[in-house]
Amino acid sequence: MAERFGPSDPPSGWDLTRNPRVARLLRSRRFQFLLILPNQLVFWTVIFVGLLGTVVPGLNFGTAITWYIWFCLVFVMMVVVGRAWCAMCPFGGFAEWIQRRTLWQRTQKVLGLGRKFPEPLARYGFLLPVATFLLLTWIEEYFNIAGPGTPSATSWMVVGIVTSALLFFLIFERRTFCRYLCPLSALIGTVGSMGSVAGFRTKDREVCLSCETKDCMRGGEEGFGCPWYTWPASADSNLACGLCSECYKACPSNNIGMYLQKPLTSVIAPTRRRADVAWAVALLWGLVLYQQINALSIYATVDTWLNSHLAFPHYPNPVAYMGLIVALALLTAGVMWTISRVFARKDMTFTVKGNFMERASRFRAYFVPLTYGMIPVVGADYFARQLPKFFQHATRIVPAVQQTLGSQTAIKSPLYQMRLLSNPHIVGVQVTIIAIGTLAAVWSTWKISGREIVPVSRGGAAVRVASLSLVLVFGAVAAMLYVLMNAAD
Ligand code: SF4
Ligand code: SF4
Ligand code: SF4
Repeated sequence: MAERFGPSDPPSGWDLTRNPRVARLLRSRRFQFLLILPNQLVFWTVIFVGLLGTVVPGLNFGTAITWYIWFCLVFVMMVVVGRAWCAMCPFGGFAEWIQRRTLWQRTQKVLGLGRKFPEPLARYGFLLPVATFLLLTWIEEYFNIAGPGTPSATSWMVVGIVTSALLFFLIFERRTFCRYLCPLSALIGTVGSMGSVAGFRTKDREVCLSCETKDCMRGGEEGFGCPWYTWPASADSNLACGLCSECYKACPSNNIGMYLQKPLTSVIAPTRRRADVAWAVALLWGLVLYQQINALSIYATVDTWLNSHLAFPHYPNPVAYMGLIVALALLTAGVMWTISRVFARKDMTFTVKGNFMERASRFRAYFVPLTYGMIPVVGADYFARQLPKFFQHATRIVPAVQQTLGSQTAIKSPLYQMRLLSNPHIVGVQVTIIAIGTLAAVWSTWKISGREIVPVSRGGAAVRVASLSLVLVFGAVAAMLYVLMNAAD
């Protein structure tokens, strides 16, 4: 049986706050500010150097750090920790400083309208940040921002994200932007559920049930109410904890800890799985497969053909882009629907209730848990996709810094042309990462299917074989595409 962090269970992981130094650090109001500050400095440097520095993308500090290094590091953070990036993110951090009118102090009055996010939209949950991620990725591909193309394009993209974050922080309350709209939120939340930080959880839920103030949610003397609308007493995964530590500071009963967990626990163990998360994973899977397919020469032919017929100026054709991503997500869902039709027990009643996102059905009983099980292979695929840029160009960061500091000979640096790995070795690393992700997905699906799929199926062994085969096929497809791409970035 997997370790669970169900609402009624005390977390069984390791509470980091038992260490007095960690506890003191997390109590400090400057804790998150000090995490955000270095990234804030780097990102404003990215903006200014991108606009004012050299137009050579590989020599510009803004493009070099963003596309050769940062994106790769964020994925490592997600897989190892979870939402670590959100704790130090300059986009949300900057907007939150302005919303709270302070860099770190506990203020009572906030700036802005403090509106609630409309409930009909909130029901779409993670589908909203997936939509903004799809839009941002399309814009990035259209303007060749991450190529990298013109450095100023990277700056304008970052300015666009910071501006929209600020706008939403000033219109809506708390971190509505992070929870519902940030283009990175669904990706970090889902892939981050593989990570080893469970987040902030209550030590004793009974204390919470009789707690009259609920300062962790409403805000108390020492801390703000949870900016992510997460009640630490009911969290059973790290999906929506931004690791900001406000609840830890606010709780008057010292009833909150910061827990470590075994890797994959937030994939395997949640007791309340969400359909919006499952659809988000399916669409993210469609997107990363699209990004692999579009690196093949055959895709250019299809895109050009469609553009000439639809009078669209150039790659990526929006119909092909959205069409292929949605088709791949629906194909994934379709295979799971087929498994549900073949294996669901006839005597089971799959009750229908709630709105369409919460509605229980035979399809949902299979699709939602099986899609959670796919998360490791989807995460591995996103990570592997970033590797060519890292291995081919990461060393350019040194000449890019030299160029920013005024060197005229930075482009002659041997580090500018250096590659950390050759193309065949990059492909080898990509396939290895996919293999590890696939094994992790097989393990997750094995645990999840044993607990959630087998009880509603006839032929327990057969449904498990079908579920595991599906994951293996996904992994094989991703690995095969990397071989065909030959380290294209
Ligand atoms: S959700 Fe987005 S804006 Fe918010 S902290 Fe995370 S990465 Fe930053
Ligand atoms: S303030 Fe503390 S005791 Fe009260 S509900 Fe929150 S975590 Fe529980
Ligand atoms: S207040 Fe607590 S539960 Fe909410 S995001 Fe911050 S650390 Fe996580």
